[in-house]
Amino acid sequence: MSIARRVGLVENLFHQLEIESAQFQQKSGLGCVAGCGKCCTYPTIEASPLEFLPWAFHLFLNGEAEKMLNTLNKTQSLTCLIYTPSSILNNGNCGNYKYRGLICRLFGFAANTDKYQNLRLATCKIIKEGQAANYTSTAEAIQKGLSIPVFTEYYMQLNQIDFNMGNIMLPVNKALKMALEEVLQYYAYRPFPNESAA
Ligand code: SF4
Repeated sequence: MSIARRVGLVENLFHQLEIESAQFQQKSGLGCVAGCGKCCTYPTIEASPLEFLPWAFHLFLNGEAEKMLNTLNKTQSLTCLIYTPSSILNNGNCGNYKYRGLICRLFGFAANTDKYQNLRLATCKIIKEGQAANYTSTAEAIQKGLSIPVFTEYYMQLNQIDFNMGNIMLPVNKALKMALEEVLQYYAYRPFPNESAA
């Protein structure tokens, strides 16, 4: 399947998740603290290369893919390279929010299934402690059937777009690198896509 087609399908999945997440956030009242990007600094974030294909394609269309790949090849950092550290201008957050991955969209507002098949909201300490009452009532509501995005269901849908790129979980910077390599290899012997293909 072409890169543009896969990018379109991944973006459709993101759109579906946006709708489901918005409904969950509205019903639960839970929300990220404005400007917070703390979860992006965790060195243990894992993602599939496929969820960053839209990001890689966007960079490629803008002539930035090779430069980013060089940076990724040189880095020893385990923190997501898209993350913009805090400065006098901001608190530190995603440097390319529009093209963030599936894991970034799910974390905080989605559930894992535990060994008893119960859904457990996976969110951060800041939300758990700062919005404790809401967190507890939401956890109870989930047990009673409140609809919430589920990690495994979204990753299963991602796998169906491209099993090879969607079924592996790698440290986030390796996933970014593989997404860029996929796009660069694909277009190594093909004409540059026009914007309408994007
Ligand atoms: S892509 Fe953006 S939201 Fe996702 S981990 Fe990296 S900096 Fe955070």
